[in-house]
Amino acid sequence: EKYGISDALKVLGISAENNGTSTGDNWIDTGESFLSSFSPADGQLIAKVQLTNKEAYEKVIKEAQGSFESWRVTPAPQRGEIVRQVGNALREVKSELGKLVSYEMGKSYQEGLGEVQEMIDICDFAVGLSRQLYGLTMHSERPGHRMYEQWHPIGVVGIISAFNFPVAVWSWNSMIAMVCGNVCVWKPSEKTPLSAVACQKIIAKVLKENNLPEGISSLIVGDYKVGEYLSHDSRIPLVSATGSTRMGKLVGQAVGGRLGRSLLELGGNNAIIITENADLEIAIRGALFGAVGTAGQRCTTTRRLIIHESVYEEVKSRLVSAYGKLVIGNPLDEKNHVGPLIDTEAVDMYLDAIKKVTEEGGKELVSGGVLTGEGYESGCYVKPCIIEAENNYLMVQHETFAPILYLMKYASLEDAIAMQNGVPQGLSSSIMTLNMREAELFLSAAGSDCGIANVNIGTSGAEIGGAFGGEKETGGGRESGSDSWKAYMRRQTNTINYSNSLPLAQGIKFDI
Ligand code: NAD
Repeated sequence: EKYGISDALKVLGISAENNGTSTGDNWIDTGESFLSSFSPADGQLIAKVQLTNKEAYEKVIKEAQGSFESWRVTPAPQRGEIVRQVGNALREVKSELGKLVSYEMGKSYQEGLGEVQEMIDICDFAVGLSRQLYGLTMHSERPGHRMYEQWHPIGVVGIISAFNFPVAVWSWNSMIAMVCGNVCVWKPSEKTPLSAVACQKIIAKVLKENNLPEGISSLIVGDYKVGEYLSHDSRIPLVSATGSTRMGKLVGQAVGGRLGRSLLELGGNNAIIITENADLEIAIRGALFGAVGTAGQRCTTTRRLIIHESVYEEVKSRLVSAYGKLVIGNPLDEKNHVGPLIDTEAVDMYLDAIKKVTEEGGKELVSGGVLTGEGYESGCYVKPCIIEAENNYLMVQHETFAPILYLMKYASLEDAIAMQNGVPQGLSSSIMTLNMREAELFLSAAGSDCGIANVNIGTSGAEIGGAFGGEKETGGGRESGSDSWKAYMRRQTNTINYSNSLPLAQGIKFDI
């Protein structure tokens, strides 16, 4: 109560028991059991959400398909106007939604607010985009002919999202998909269903106020089995899925098996290279936020530091002393730097990773462990730790979604880049250097193999204006800014003959 949670829930329209299945504001009672959402901050039950079943799913998809018929022919700038209103509706409840995200997921209140700000920003971006869904024009090789391409809406877009960005990832997908003329069906993480119900209520109100069809935005709730409804459904031409590589392989295969399109945003194993020419103040701060922010539960979290041997000892000792100052506790208390992990299962995986990596030879520089006692009753609070390790250790090759930072040493930048690239994932990367040659080599074709490569900033905290995503086991998808919108549309090439004859392409003659 100290943090005003119940007031926030009231403003967002969250009750003790909520429906989880809806098209717009049409909430369907599925008759199924309820999913309980517990806060990792204090272990308390926040509220319950009713699960979606196959029958309700069918209703949702039928409604979505019907809504697509009219939404796809609504002029794109008018679709943008609706997204503009969604952005404004989000502005009105920024603090409440930020608080719910913080309480349900466990990230700091500041980061919860930041996540809602990201949603507002993507709305603004999508509004502008709604007048810029440009296609190219080409010169035809045939006289009296014109060629161009246009981008059309693709249909019902399925969105499967992860727990760690419970609301922003939905908005990255749905706001862009919506201005593109698509309708969306969202299956949020079963670990953060309340944040999703709150978002659905916000968008449903806007749709209602504008007398738009309910099925433009739909919600379904459940675990992987409900996610599988989407991945196996050939009525869903595009499934955008964010989560673990394990999940991405399953979804990618299911969608690929029916030759649908998938947009995959999967795990990362992000490194910062700190060279002998780094501004160490910036390097330490960037590494610290990257490694412990969101308790190591960002896909872009800094998991590895690859440090030049000449500055290794200094970086190590400065980091160890910075870790000593970290305050761990309730994410809603703004004094704290680090909040909890999502659940006790995540805590077990964290402990298991530390055990395995030390068995492989890793040396704990800052020890990990689970916190107990007052304020830590949920059992989800762990100590961020630092481990000296080798890049080829099994555990270092693997993404553990927790605040474990691996330190390693290098002698030549080529070796450092090889280490940075020498993992199965390819999401985010950065180099800390004031040397132009080092920075440019890192950004060159022979440099980082990741979807994101930064200079003198850490690996986490991307802006929405760029295309977001990564290579290799990160799945290859790109979302958010730049021309990521193209993934949500189908391209059509048009050739128009305005001449009096019918010349064939490639000069082919076919006369009878
Ligand atoms: P997860 O893979 O356990 O779950 C993600 C979502 O997929 C959930 O909604 C889940 O219900 C669903 N799902 C799981 N198996 C499925 C299946 N077989 N078919 C259909 N749906 C299925 O991931 P998580 O623990 O919620 O999130 C953490 C992971 O997400 C990390 O690996 C992190 O790096 C990744 N992530 C990536 C990005 C990115 O943009 N690259 C962003 C955020 C999180």
